[in-house]
Amino acid sequence: MDTQMKPHAVLLPFPAAGHVNPLMQLAEILHTKGFHITFVYTDNFYRQLVKSKSTDSIPSLAPDFQFVRLPDNLPDTLPDIGTKCTLTHKNCTETFTTLLKQLMEKSPAPTCVISDAVMTCAMHAAREVGLPEVQFWTASACGFMGHHSFEELIQRGIVPLKDESYTKNGYLDTPLDWIPGMKHMRLRDVNTFLYTTNPNDTMINHCIEQMKNCQRSGAIIINTLYELEKDVVDALATYYPPIYTIGPLANMTDGHLKDNTQNLTFFEENKECLNWLDNKAKSSVVYVNFGSHASMTLEQTKEIGWGLAKCGFDFLWVVRPNIVKGEKVVLDEEFLEETKERGLVVPWCPQEMVLKHPSLGLFVTHAGWNSLLEAIVGGVPLICWPIVAEQVTNCRQLCKVWGNGMELDKDVKREKVAELVREMMVGESGKEKRRMALTWKRKAEEAASAGGSSSLSLDRLINYVLLKND
Ligand code: UDP
Repeated sequence: MDTQMKPHAVLLPFPAAGHVNPLMQLAEILHTKGFHITFVYTDNFYRQLVKSKSTDSIPSLAPDFQFVRLPDNLPDTLPDIGTKCTLTHKNCTETFTTLLKQLMEKSPAPTCVISDAVMTCAMHAAREVGLPEVQFWTASACGFMGHHSFEELIQRGIVPLKDESYTKNGYLDTPLDWIPGMKHMRLRDVNTFLYTTNPNDTMINHCIEQMKNCQRSGAIIINTLYELEKDVVDALATYYPPIYTIGPLANMTDGHLKDNTQNLTFFEENKECLNWLDNKAKSSVVYVNFGSHASMTLEQTKEIGWGLAKCGFDFLWVVRPNIVKGEKVVLDEEFLEETKERGLVVPWCPQEMVLKHPSLGLFVTHAGWNSLLEAIVGGVPLICWPIVAEQVTNCRQLCKVWGNGMELDKDVKREKVAELVREMMVGESGKEKRRMALTWKRKAEEAASAGGSSSLSLDRLINYVLLKND
């Protein structure tokens, strides 16, 4: 194809691993299909990335796959996610418009903008320069439905909470049987952002803004499997523009840029763990990882660690250096001694590869959406211990609808961890969850193959939305 005639997609992820990863997967797919790619990193994220790699810049992945920095005027540390979202919106609306204008003067000029739905600055900028724009929702459809219900929860007077005691007095167990496609939700399952007494909560306001943007957008992409979230996706379709379910994206990529994209993480990736897994028996290892940013107390890490020590199985445990806010996690000598024959603790791992490894028997997770999808791709059953945001929704759906895992009590105790791990590894309910994990793996493979739901949806997205072919 003549380079100047190439379609050119500009992708803008929210600066966090769980957002950058799926946008990168989509970028890789579009690159395979002949798109020129501009992948935009906000300055703050870019700076942290290059610092962690001790380098000055992130090289292009191919001549027609470039990274661009977006000035965001953000400090290195921010108090919370709500502030990060609102400041990013405030500071990037103008800079992203300027960036798009600059790109429009080059060849090939951009032909579409694919914006992470959290990056509410993108729609305004794309419209300003006359480019079609699509919103990419990187979490689950049930998480989307949760956000969609925020306004109604406020109108019905259910949130904000009257006072702090409402987080503990059973109020969060209020059933919400009116949320479309998710009849068994309780208030506690909709999103932890709602556990607030603040009538002007920045995060809630930002989420409502995201939903308004989605309603005005040309199309919405969700990294989900239609078969898994059919009821919710169908319900969303009545409120929103066309929805394209194209997940799990990990099944749709050909991996041609994989070696390079794996370098795009802040933490040093331990690849040795794959060799360690090679020497373990099939389905014998418990893998524990709570994602890229959620945090817990030191006490909770200790309970999880001792639960693993007591369960009796081999385990691979990722203890991210910043998993406990403001404190370095130092594991007890006694714990290390007791588990040295069967435990491996690392700071970060190539999770997609780990979850595809035949030695994996179980994944203990915070129920982040990418982690759940990667577990589906690997056919691995799960224990969920949700921490923040829509992880609670994912966990509820998984336990009540999808059937491929169980929930660990919020008040995490070593005995309970060990007991649930044993139940999932060798107990009767574990067998059923494993069977469902394999069923979803198969369905996800079918969806990604020619004629499958995700594959057809991707084709439609590319042809009718991104290339504007009739
Ligand atoms: N991840 C990884 N190695 C790790 C931890 C996480 O590669 O040790 C990746 C994981 O594969 C996933 C992403 O980081 O793609 C985390 O996204 P998720 O939605 O599960 O959770 P979040 O980090 O957003 O809470």
